[in-house]
Amino acid sequence: MRMSHARMYERLLAGDADYNGRFFTGVLTTGIYCLPSCKARKPKSENVRFFPSCEAARNAGLRACKKCHPDDYARGADPVLETIETVVNEVRADPAAFADARAVVRRSGFGVTRAFELFRQHYHSTPADLLLRARIDAAKRQLLGTNASAADIAFAAGFESLSAFHENFLRLNGLTPSAYRDLATGHTFSISLPKDYPLPFLRRALSRDVHSLTEKLEGDTYTSAVHLNSEPTLLRLHLSAASIVAEVLGAWAARPQTSLNAGGPPALPQVHALVIGLLGLDQDAAAFARLAHKLGLARLVAGRPGLRLSQVSTVFDGLLWSIIGQQINFPFACLLRRRLVERAGTPLADGLYAPPFPAAVAALEPADLRALQFSRQKADYVIATARLVVEGKLDLTALRTMSATRAERTLLAIHGLGPWSVNYLMMRALGFADCVPLGDTGVTSGLQTLLKLDPRPDVDATRRLMAVFSPYRSLATAHLWQFNQPSPT
Ligand SMILES: [Zn+2]
Repeated sequence: MRMSHARMYERLLAGDADYNGRFFTGVLTTGIYCLPSCKARKPKSENVRFFPSCEAARNAGLRACKKCHPDDYARGADPVLETIETVVNEVRADPAAFADARAVVRRSGFGVTRAFELFRQHYHSTPADLLLRARIDAAKRQLLGTNASAADIAFAAGFESLSAFHENFLRLNGLTPSAYRDLATGHTFSISLPKDYPLPFLRRALSRDVHSLTEKLEGDTYTSAVHLNSEPTLLRLHLSAASIVAEVLGAWAARPQTSLNAGGPPALPQVHALVIGLLGLDQDAAAFARLAHKLGLARLVAGRPGLRLSQVSTVFDGLLWSIIGQQINFPFACLLRRRLVERAGTPLADGLYAPPFPAAVAALEPADLRALQFSRQKADYVIATARLVVEGKLDLTALRTMSATRAERTLLAIHGLGPWSVNYLMMRALGFADCVPLGDTGVTSGLQTLLKLDPRPDVDATRRLMAVFSPYRSLATAHLWQFNQPSPT
């Protein structure tokens, strides 16, 4: 609890849920302690005392609030969240057991309106969309793991018609079910792009650091050093307006697929997942563009209604970006990351390096990074976080399937990760749709221009203004980042 009384009181007035667990609010006049986000009437500053834990509040003679249940929160218990998580796990394990979205809502035990609110809050999604994606994922496993026909697989996953299966499969994966099945044996594949896909913006994203050591874009050829089955590998994409052709270079490509598969999942489906993330192809750009029009803010998406948010290739790399990028300008962040990559990454062909593995960063000492111009704090945070991963205290793979709420809480509990870093990571590496990196200058200056505001909005104003874009605030952020920039050619 390193914050000042004034700062905590300000967060209490704002009802800021990001600060839940970071301190507890005791109200001396009522004898009750609360979470900062409690909806109960706000006490006067002089009647408030802040506590680092529930226990400290109880020791001071206070009782837990019956509205916000601070003890449950501190224990990690959240019965409503747990109910929704259980339902989602059931849907993912056996989507065919749910006839439709109504069945998902019924299973939750909540009314329709409340269930929609909870799915939006905790998964940034709707019951229907979660069910659809679970069906597609189940079908993908069957396509790779069995010889069953596409029709049998579609019906077993719960699709009612083969055309709905094909249409959704193609939209979310950029290829047909049979082309997906071919990934098990091939070395290359082609992703077809939707008509409105704004390739110039992808090119901008892929060359955002022109001196990058992990990726380079030359003409229409993009080469990226990635990890496949924990092995550093070069991935090459050939970009064109209609499609992206992907191939794996080097030792991987030369070896037969069967030896690649020894002990791990097939490599090419993994490459496919990575490329879909890079393109942001499974994000609902059309829905966000419709929302922007409905809000009378068509200018936010003008010229790039199909914009997606490109995902970084590993969660750990996203984590490094989210710590390195804190409170410094983008060119300096790129410089620090390049130095870290050179120090701890894996050199491959063409002067490219695969991004560092957690173990390589965990083995560094803060002085090593200080020598690369990292601030003392950044050096400590980067190394301490890598060590958490290596020691198994932070499971990066598990973050991908957690609810957004659980992922956010897990990450906020890590020393050195604040709301900006956590939301940045959640939208750039975990694919959550409704995040805002609060305090981001690109977002605030984008909002300022978009809404003709003076002065530039602060964190609370940003939170308020961004609320209208829910549940697509990650895409809203992507557009705001572009809003003050000239269009790419
Ligand atoms: Zn309360």
